[in-house]
Amino acid sequence: MAGSLGLSAAVRVFTCPHCKETINTSESQCPFCATCIDHDEAEAAAASMARINQACSDGSYLKIMAGMLLTFFLLRYVPLLGLIGTVGFYFLLIAVPVMAVRWWIKFGSIRTSDSGFRTARFTVIVAGIFAVVVGAVVATVLTVTWGN
Ligand SMILES: [Zn+2]
Repeated sequence: MAGSLGLSAAVRVFTCPHCKETINTSESQCPFCATCIDHDEAEAAAASMARINQACSDGSYLKIMAGMLLTFFLLRYVPLLGLIGTVGFYFLLIAVPVMAVRWWIKFGSIRTSDSGFRTARFTVIVAGIFAVVVGAVVATVLTVTWGN
């Protein structure tokens, strides 16, 4: 799944419908179980697998960004690095929910039992909600602070 992104453009791979081994679309027969491979079906399966891989990699990227939200927040209290922390924090506060929504538009309709995809989908929901909640808390604190 992961790590195959660079190769997936050149060699298209998909999962054998019979034995679930990963094979490439140029095969006319599965090298593992000898099931005959329909080329069009293989291309379609490879395209959907590439999409799922993209969804997984975007999902883990979003997870890293949500994690950096905390890092930047803490950075705000470090002398000299405070400005970087503030800028990064507010940038991610907007960027994470936007990316979560984009992910949902792009990949939300995928129906698969792929566990990596399910994990990615869960991660995206959590990261998106997390950023929105943090944003709401920050907005509340700012409002209260300015109010006084
Ligand atoms: Zn097979």
